[in-house]
Amino acid sequence: MAKSSSALHPAITRTLDIVQRRNHSEPVFLQAVKEVLETLGPVIEEHPDIDELNLLERLCEPERQIMFRVAWKDDAGRVNVNRGFRTQFNSVLGPYKGGLRFHPTVNMGVIKFLGFEQIFKNSLTGLNIGGAKGGADFDPAGKSDDEVMRFCQAFMNELFRYIGSRRDVPAGDMGVGPREIGYLFGQYKKLTNQFEMGVLTGKQVGWGGSLARKEATGFGVVYFAENLLQARGEGLKGKRCIVSGAGNVALYTMRKLQQLGAEVVACSDITGTVLQQGGINWELLRMCSEDERRNVDYFAQAAKGAEFRPGAKVWEVPCDYAFPCATQNELDADDARKLVENGCKMVCEGANMPCTAEAIAVLKKAGLLIGPAKAANAGGVAVSALEMQQNAGLERWTFEQVDTQLKQIMQNIFQTCTHCANKYSTKEDYIAGANVGGFLRVAQAMISHGLI
Ligand code: NDP
Repeated sequence: MAKSSSALHPAITRTLDIVQRRNHSEPVFLQAVKEVLETLGPVIEEHPDIDELNLLERLCEPERQIMFRVAWKDDAGRVNVNRGFRTQFNSVLGPYKGGLRFHPTVNMGVIKFLGFEQIFKNSLTGLNIGGAKGGADFDPAGKSDDEVMRFCQAFMNELFRYIGSRRDVPAGDMGVGPREIGYLFGQYKKLTNQFEMGVLTGKQVGWGGSLARKEATGFGVVYFAENLLQARGEGLKGKRCIVSGAGNVALYTMRKLQQLGAEVVACSDITGTVLQQGGINWELLRMCSEDERRNVDYFAQAAKGAEFRPGAKVWEVPCDYAFPCATQNELDADDARKLVENGCKMVCEGANMPCTAEAIAVLKKAGLLIGPAKAANAGGVAVSALEMQQNAGLERWTFEQVDTQLKQIMQNIFQTCTHCANKYSTKEDYIAGANVGGFLRVAQAMISHGLI
């Protein structure tokens, strides 16, 4: 049985050197590549053609990257300029698929890291979707609906050339929800003179969106966590959970946790952390976040028995299980030590790469269960693919039909992770399991497609 060894395979060190040289100004992309490649040694030993065909270097180079100017007018009539991106990373398993992020921290390196992760995540779902990501350094916070609409229209004026239901199918991510997808779709329709339903996912349910897409990422995170816990003979019922973020993924992670009998004791966002006795009042939080686009400081004022800690991270709140659902590198080594000290037993990642490499090392050493993002948050893109399927067949499935498929997909992903962890690393090393499981399917397809 092949097992990981401490010395890296030469193909990995060589590729890491090249990737480092080519992308030295993109730290998060380098972090994501390193994290994956370092777990692939045993697979390369088992399949020497991976090295012979230089598959690793090919995999780390996006097939295509697009960067464009987005000029738009704000409500005061001023002309603003933002930068738009789309990284079409790998189309070996299907049309490019991955969300759009509108956030001031977006740059090419961030989009490349997200696109790279997306390749493996999409592969793990077992569905036929390639990996991509896009977005802009536009900050929707504090913008009027009209401003958001004008920005989305200007963004689509360029992006429309590169997407299509069989070419590249964007969806939402941070700062992009059903409102933005609606404006983007409207402009795509105007420019192409076609109602091409499958060109975007995360649409509103009334005109082509899938039921349960809004809930899918968060629900999927909890279904994955349930699988992790069951394998250890544990469960969610009665357990104290903390969740970072209060956006789409965080909200529906909290919802499912509460439905399954866990107590969500705290959540957070950029303004700070909120704790509530008896558990977070989810309906109120959803209203503040989704309907009113307000932060948790506002929620804390309205929620009975809530305590607000301005600027504080959520990780200092004692819990059994932690769910980082906000953004990359939001949980560092100090936070990880705090979680361990407070008796936390599992970290299940809802956000993409929320833990730093140092944090992962601390959590692993302490023996915590870790649900890696590539696997745990794959439910969102999986249901996006189900939305594409419904659009292609002019069908509309019930919430229960979609939710049942989501649960099954998350279970399959868990089984793939378990199998690959046992075969190529160690029992419960779900990080290696997810990386290898995602990689194998992509590698096999790249080999069959030849050198293109
Ligand atoms: P949203 O924009 O809906 O929510 C993001 C939340 O995180 C907000 O509450 C935001 O707070 C908070 N946040 C952002 N940055 C920080 C920070 N530095 N510190 C504390 N809180 C912060 O995004 P999503 O919920 O859609 O995405 C969250 C994560 O999940 C991202 O990593 C995304 O890539 C990933 N993901 C999303 C999927 C989806 O279907 N939406 C699918 C798979 C992964 P504030 O509002 O104050 O900025």
